[in-house]
Amino acid sequence: MICNNLSINEKGHLCIGGQDTVELAEAYGTPLYLLDEDRIRERCRTYRRALQEAFGEEANALYASKAASFRGMYRIMKEEGMGVDVVSSGEIYTAVSAGFPMERAYFHSNNKTDADIRFAMENGVGYFVVDNREELDAIEAVAAERGQMQKILLRITPGIDPHTYEAVATGRVDSKFGSAIETGQAEEMVVYAMSLAHIDLMGLHCHVGSQVFDSDVFLRAAAILLDFAAKMREKYQFALRELDLGGGYGVRYLESDPELDIAENIREVGKAVHAQCEALGLPLPVIRMEPGRSIVADAGMTLYTVGTVKRIPGYKNYVSVDGGMTDNPRFALYGSSYTVLLANRANDAGEAFRCSVVGRCCESGDILQENVKLPADTKRGDLVAVLTTGAYNYSMSSNYNRIPRPPVVLLSGGESKLAVRRETFEDVCRNDI
Ligand SMILES: *Cc1c(COP(=O)(O)O)cnc(C)c1O
Repeated sequence: MICNNLSINEKGHLCIGGQDTVELAEAYGTPLYLLDEDRIRERCRTYRRALQEAFGEEANALYASKAASFRGMYRIMKEEGMGVDVVSSGEIYTAVSAGFPMERAYFHSNNKTDADIRFAMENGVGYFVVDNREELDAIEAVAAERGQMQKILLRITPGIDPHTYEAVATGRVDSKFGSAIETGQAEEMVVYAMSLAHIDLMGLHCHVGSQVFDSDVFLRAAAILLDFAAKMREKYQFALRELDLGGGYGVRYLESDPELDIAENIREVGKAVHAQCEALGLPLPVIRMEPGRSIVADAGMTLYTVGTVKRIPGYKNYVSVDGGMTDNPRFALYGSSYTVLLANRANDAGEAFRCSVVGRCCESGDILQENVKLPADTKRGDLVAVLTTGAYNYSMSSNYNRIPRPPVVLLSGGESKLAVRRETFEDVCRNDI
């Protein structure tokens, strides 16, 4: 199995966190998002421990909450001592309403509106991660009006191609995110931010991409940012107090995906950063990392009930399920890979029947996965499990075709509980006049 929280019991049922998925599907209905809370907490602890061992007590991980954002998740992050990234006023609202300590929140986005900036300050968001010069002016204006200092990091594009999908690569010079070192814009941002009376420039941020397996990407990004910081110190007495290396560690969607030892990778980054700071005569900055996917992805699974099974002789086979692109648009968006199997007969090897597992939307692109191997007699009523759906599934879901969103159920210590209830038809019509 691709993650050690998965197993198969004596009935041949797929289990996650030791709980029988067939029983969970009966109890909560399908489609259904499951999230193994124990796994999420374990991942938080792995990150925090590794960062603190490598960089000292003040180092911390920030959960990039766009991966899966709902109140229960912010409560878990609060209890685990994590910080969070937020990227919109909606995420800020959710975090605040869950009681998250907002001084540990970092506000990202390449286009924060004036209303977002005001809302974030009113709610005590600790840091803004500033993308561009216009944004600096807007933050300075609101901070001045409120008579407060605002801590910021500058988002820098180091010019690294992390060898990941085009749509999730963000560290290159031509990215829509951040200011590039190569073009001189990063330097201009440092100088300008230091000149503003209500801006406290704490340090620098970069995020090179997502689903990254190259273990040297963080090393290279850190090296480039530290070099840049040393130059800025020489020229302008800039003090790098905080360095945020972003998120992006890859997770396993398929058996064939590599396994990354995140703690070991952080140790390597730690050694390199210590050595380089020493060589440059820089004090060690407070270090942040921002994992999203690698905190929640393999804690998650989606369960569906099979409906129509269509065989088109000589062409293709389709297995239609009771969800689809509305609860998981990632295949439609990026062609993302997933492991798919029958949860109610997980030992059935499934060689004879190659099919596309598709959703119920009126849209040909509504595909969950192509080229899936299922048992030859796959039929109406079977239970399909799509693995590793904890990240960017619920948070990217929609009501296309007026399909209500599935519930999110958290699993912990052999118990299950609703974290987000299933939407009703009335929920779907809630804002209709
Ligand atoms: C999305 C994002 C992350 C998290 O990326 P993952 O691949 O989910 O770990 C971290 N930082 C920023 C700025 C992001 O946009």
